[in-house]
Amino acid sequence: MDTFLMERATPGQRAFAGCLAMVILAALVLTAPHATTALPAVAAFLPMCGLTVFSTATIASFLLAVQFTVSRLPVFGLLAGAYAFTALTVAMQLLTFPGLFAPQGLFGALPTTSAWIWVFWHAGFPTLVLIAMLVRRRFTPQSVTQLPPSGRAMWLFVGLPLVVGGLLCLTALAVPLPPALAPASAPGDFSASGAGIVLLVLNLVALGAVLAIGRLRAVLDVWVALAVLACVTDTVLSLMSTVRFSLGWYLARLFSMSAPGLLVCVLVWEVTRLYRELARAHLRLIEYSNRDALTGIFNRRYFSERFPRDFDQARRSGHPLSLLMVDVDHFKRYNDAYGHPLGDECLAHVALAIMRATHRPTDLVARYGGEEFVVVLPETDANGAMFVATRVTESVRALAKPGPVQQGYVTVSVGCATHVPQQGAAGDTPQRLIALADDALYTAKRLGRDRVHVSEGMPISGGEQPGALAQAPRENLSA
Ligand code: GH3
Ligand code: MG
Ligand code: MG
Repeated sequence: MDTFLMERATPGQRAFAGCLAMVILAALVLTAPHATTALPAVAAFLPMCGLTVFSTATIASFLLAVQFTVSRLPVFGLLAGAYAFTALTVAMQLLTFPGLFAPQGLFGALPTTSAWIWVFWHAGFPTLVLIAMLVRRRFTPQSVTQLPPSGRAMWLFVGLPLVVGGLLCLTALAVPLPPALAPASAPGDFSASGAGIVLLVLNLVALGAVLAIGRLRAVLDVWVALAVLACVTDTVLSLMSTVRFSLGWYLARLFSMSAPGLLVCVLVWEVTRLYRELARAHLRLIEYSNRDALTGIFNRRYFSERFPRDFDQARRSGHPLSLLMVDVDHFKRYNDAYGHPLGDECLAHVALAIMRATHRPTDLVARYGGEEFVVVLPETDANGAMFVATRVTESVRALAKPGPVQQGYVTVSVGCATHVPQQGAAGDTPQRLIALADDALYTAKRLGRDRVHVSEGMPISGGEQPGALAQAPRENLSA
């Protein structure tokens, strides 16, 4: 199955991401010369950033894992693993950071533990993204349909980075390693230790791979590129200024927050957009399913659904409900004379003519069957119904002189029934009103067509079957 993240990025998305990339690069270039400048110490800043990265990375991992289960594309599973790794290492870095949760850090942390976990985080994330991008090339949305169900693969993609991350954290806790990063003494002075260089190279290679493999085509490529750029900037600034509470240090933390935060925002935004589109499509589908394909007016399905509701409403309010049954006269002859395509066209015009004859927003015109239509007139008494029915016949007659139906003179017969539904009367049903209107229609036909006939109504008796009138034998009307 396709996912929105694999859709082609729109020019708008690319432009927006491009602007963000410019802001990130501008911030890097502008602050680099002053990276070691000391700023006021805000003790809560580090735990706040750490917590933000932890929660956004966890959410990003979850959302990407969902994308993986939907699409079965391994790139999503691997990216979910990359963010799960980030969440684990940032949590461990915070917990082992001296002076935050315990003077020396929790779990018996060594003085170098927290810094090394930070290095593992900033090395692991780009490495996992790099792997994800290499795998992305191998599996296309078309090729993954042959892959087995995604449950076990999910554990592998997310579980393995977590295990590796856990082992690395344990190593940093247990083994007295040399200091991870030597403090930078001047702006632009990268940490002299080898770890700094490895970090820098890994981040730049990952960024290069994202750009070269994805070429910013899909939505995913654009936003992963931006997330990796934020990670690169974070790493560069951190290496330039390892001193706490310096300008570079503060800015690096802000960028470390934006790497998972960006993706979460995009995922949530896209899922919301998709939901909105789905809701609209659903509404459109309902609308289509209620419409008659030939005439564009409501179909019998909608009428059958709505008429009982109108009937109940009339029962509650005590207002009369009227129903008109409209049938095109001698339409078979029309078809025989002009052919079915013109017959279809004529039916569409007749439907419009009937629509024009009804004015209230609550009135309903629907195609009941072949060349039969129904008009439901809520809160309309017999006089009103007669008035509308007459307007229907006139409106259809007007089509022929010199209306849109050029090649024939089309008329309709209308059966008209009005009723105030009674509370608790067993035989008083919508079907009964339909039967009355139908019967009146056939009387109109019998009396010569092109006319309105009003049903005289019937006393409601509990024992009588609804629709009995509709099934009563009718004389041959073909004359
Ligand atoms: P009457 O005045 O007694 O109603 O005569 P009629 O010919 O209209 O009635 P009948 O029931 O004998 O025939 C209905 C005709 O309506 C049959 C068919 O040719 C035509 N018809 C029904 N549905 C369609 C449609 O969707 N398109 C077209 N072109 N014709 C249809
Ligand atoms: Mg007919
Ligand atoms: Mg008919």
